[in-house]
Amino acid sequence: MVRVTLIPGDGTGPELAQAARRCIDATGAAIEWEICQAGSEVAARLGDPLPEQTIESVTRNRVALKGPITTPVGSGYRSVNVFLRQHLDLYACVRPCKSYRGIPSRYQDIDLVVIRENTEDLYAGIEFQKDSSQAQELISWLNNHSKRKIRQDSGLSIKPISVYATERIVRFAFEYARSHGRRKVTSVHKANIMKHTDGLWLEVSREVARRYPDIQFEDRIVDNMCMQLVIRPQMYDVLVLPNLYGDIISDLCAGLIGGLGVAPGANIGDNAAIFEATHGSAPKYAGLNKVNPTAMILSGVLMLHHLGMHQQASRLEKAVADVIAEGRFVTYDLKPNRDDPSAVGTSDMADAIIARLGQAALPH
Ligand code: NAD
Repeated sequence: MVRVTLIPGDGTGPELAQAARRCIDATGAAIEWEICQAGSEVAARLGDPLPEQTIESVTRNRVALKGPITTPVGSGYRSVNVFLRQHLDLYACVRPCKSYRGIPSRYQDIDLVVIRENTEDLYAGIEFQKDSSQAQELISWLNNHSKRKIRQDSGLSIKPISVYATERIVRFAFEYARSHGRRKVTSVHKANIMKHTDGLWLEVSREVARRYPDIQFEDRIVDNMCMQLVIRPQMYDVLVLPNLYGDIISDLCAGLIGGLGVAPGANIGDNAAIFEATHGSAPKYAGLNKVNPTAMILSGVLMLHHLGMHQQASRLEKAVADVIAEGRFVTYDLKPNRDDPSAVGTSDMADAIIARLGQAALPH
């Protein structure tokens, strides 16, 4: 038995986590779930959206499956998602974007992987509020040391890009390409404008690429990358990006394969990994048994692969693909018409997937 932390989350998280857990259990994977709370419900009860016990469980088990968690705007609570990534140093966000037959989408043959650096860049959280003494001090210092002047009434967000973090994420991308039979890594940047951050990212990317002669390497400027992904996404394989571009391009790529309902993800570090859908808690649908469990279940597929349970992972992915291709027992967003009354709920789609797993287990 492998022990895995299950964090149901909030909003639609608990119903999605329940659907994913049932599907994973139906593969026969030997997993013992340790259920731990995080999010707005536990915050209302205990005053903390991320109890120490949950952090301790993920640290000890080193693997977690997590439902989405709401980040309330202006509540004063720390973002649970950002805290977990930083605290556990989950530096690689991996988001495979793959077309499945039957999903309404502009493209039918996408198979690319977005690898986003998770710890630095404008997301590092180093910010100075307009008119604060720190902002004033920093602006004065910068104006003394730079030809370009910053207006005194500015707020500042700092963009750190280090050799250390760039080297490890680009290396991760190449190792991922090698171990997953991928042919090419594309490093994305804006080095023509931000020479000392994105320029450094590109320089380090090129250095790392030299160590992997068996994998093709290329780079793209981020604006061009967006256009290329819309025009000819089939040209790309593994993309590696700094944090902010990675965030934006992940959603663009989710759009290429039919939307957030089908986009899985993983946050991986050297000592722990958390598997979760790309989408958020979709609070307006909470408790309605309505939203699509596919992204969460496919995040479970990634987790099973991570645990070395490849056979269970492949069977579960095939069952999901079959149910989607058949198009009967799918949620509203996977129907050609979103008002289709034949759309089923979250738990019903999970039931259909579990039934498929049963069929897959029968001898021919
Ligand atoms: P969201 O992804 O929750 O929802 C945006 C829209 O996408 C929904 O209204 C819905 O139409 C669609 N959608 C999302 N998930 C779907 C699913 N499984 N099936 C079908 N349709 C789906 O984004 P948001 O509204 O910007 O964020 C809501 C909350 O979630 C915010 O508090 C945000 O901070 C949080 N969030 C959490 C995570 C995370 O836990 N990792 C990630 C992103 C956002």
